Amino acid sequence: MLGLLASGCTTDAPPLQGGWVGTHPERGHRLRGELPKADGPLKTTGVLIVGAGIAGLACARALAKRGIDDFAILDLEDQAGGNSRGHSIGGSACPLGAHYLPLPDAQAREVGELLHELGLAREQLGRTVWDEKHLCHSPQERLFIAGEWRDGLLPPPEGAAAQAQYRRFSDRVTQAQRELGFAMPSHRARWTPGHTALDSQTFAAWLDREGLNDSRLRWYLDYCCRDDFGAGADIVSAWAGLHYFASRHGFHAPGDEAGEREPVLTWPEGNGWLSAQIVAPLHERIHLGRTVLRVTERRQGIELLAWNEAADAPERWAARAVVMATPLFVSGHLLAAPPDALRSLKQRHAPWVTANLSLREPLLQRPGAPPSWDNVRYGSTALGYVDARHQTLDPTPRAPLLTAYLALPETQRGELLKQPWQHWAQVVTQELAQTHPDLPAKLERIDLCRFGHAMSIPTPGLRGSAELAALNAQRGRVVFAHSDLAGYSVFEEAYTAGVEAAARLSL
Ligand SMILES: Cc1cc2nc3c(=O)[nH]c(=O)nc-3n(C[C@H](O)[C@H](O)[C@H](O)COP(=O)(O)OP(=O)(O)OC[C@H]3O[C@@H](n4cnc5c(N)ncnc54)[C@H](O)[C@@H]3O)c2cc1C
Repeated sequence: MLGLLASGCTTDAPPLQGGWVGTHPERGHRLRGELPKADGPLKTTGVLIVGAGIAGLACARALAKRGIDDFAILDLEDQAGGNSRGHSIGGSACPLGAHYLPLPDAQAREVGELLHELGLAREQLGRTVWDEKHLCHSPQERLFIAGEWRDGLLPPPEGAAAQAQYRRFSDRVTQAQRELGFAMPSHRARWTPGHTALDSQTFAAWLDREGLNDSRLRWYLDYCCRDDFGAGADIVSAWAGLHYFASRHGFHAPGDEAGEREPVLTWPEGNGWLSAQIVAPLHERIHLGRTVLRVTERRQGIELLAWNEAADAPERWAARAVVMATPLFVSGHLLAAPPDALRSLKQRHAPWVTANLSLREPLLQRPGAPPSWDNVRYGSTALGYVDARHQTLDPTPRAPLLTAYLALPETQRGELLKQPWQHWAQVVTQELAQTHPDLPAKLERIDLCRFGHAMSIPTPGLRGSAELAALNAQRGRVVFAHSDLAGYSVFEEAYTAGVEAAARLSL
């Protein structure tokens, strides 16, 4: 059906609207070419922050809070926020990438402070009270399994033996929390030989050894890994697999009183809402459409060469110090003299596609649980979709707007660049048609966003590597700030990395 719509071959249906939005791979790929000659005027500032993702923005916010406002943030895209940006279709907001944030606990103190300052939380009689507007409204999640939708994402165990495995995994998570310690952000838990042992094997190998082989449990754990890390249990480390549950989400076996999942903060535009709030007081210092090409440390300070995309011309900057808030492999290309740890770091990144689908009319209902914020199909390697209108408080009836997520194998990165948007529109639509056969005929517009190197995959050995430890500790006039420093990517890691980088900077 989509092929017919896209090519305009039906008699009455208009051609499908859509295209790539949000990212400009060709800008990033300027790094592959020769450096341009630049002799224009020199722009000067105190601190340059390269990258306006959550880490770069958090760093800028931390500097501003210390009374340092002599800084500039450069980003190659035309909108700040990196992987946490919003989009809109027909006046309705939707996420481009990150879409939720679990409620932080005391260890994520910088994130907690931010959320209090933004008015999302307040302290009352010694406890934190959250503004319900920003908590995910009910119903939160559902899973399509055996022809019907069920509440929650955990597939129900089939039989007593499976139930026992769910319980055993839950116990192992609790035991790991108690005996080893896990924290969010992750470096707030002391790294022990027990962590190293987990970090040296894949999650799948650890689960096999534990005798946790129930197919439904394994599908769920694999889904969680792909959802948070962009790669499955056979690729990520056992440290990462347990960290997901022990630090952020918990694992609740059926029958647990706590219910399946904790509440999360979310918005129609996903975490784009958060980045827009952080950007607002900083926007005069953010320079977008600036692809940084080279950062050189000289005795007298930092020299930076960027490509001004709008002017189609090079731009020269000078500063006393620089914060590299770009993915670490990008920083390795940008720095004229990268530190040894950056040269020897081996970090893999998962490609992702997100798609915002605007529909002409509501979808037909299938049996079971009602439409929820997050909707996933059991057995699928895709990550389902969120309803971007679920959180909206605007009562105006509007067409449904769904945001679908796909974490791709690294072998698909080339295809992501090569294939036209219609190809990926078809991949996404065919997947969603498995749960909603009427979707292709109702699809009006699909805006796709591609991330070639969306997030660091926490492969065995990465989290505990000497390289990451060295880059996290680096002080001076060149410091690093990016979620890559944690070996995997979530808001809490990115935000904390930015705040901590501001503190390590020598001015
Ligand atoms: C599809 C998707 C869904 C996600 N969902 C969630 C979620 O729901 N919850 C969650 O907590 N996390 C989620 N994440 C993880 C997300 O990556 C982090 O939450 C966070 O946004 C990472 O911020 P960062 O600053 O570390 O990195 P980035 O967002 O990667 O920021 C780096 C910035 O550097 C810029 N840059 C790169 N190269 C250059 C250059 N040469 N010159 C200038 N600028 C450059 C980029 O444009 C970008 O703005 C998701 C990620 C993706 C991709």
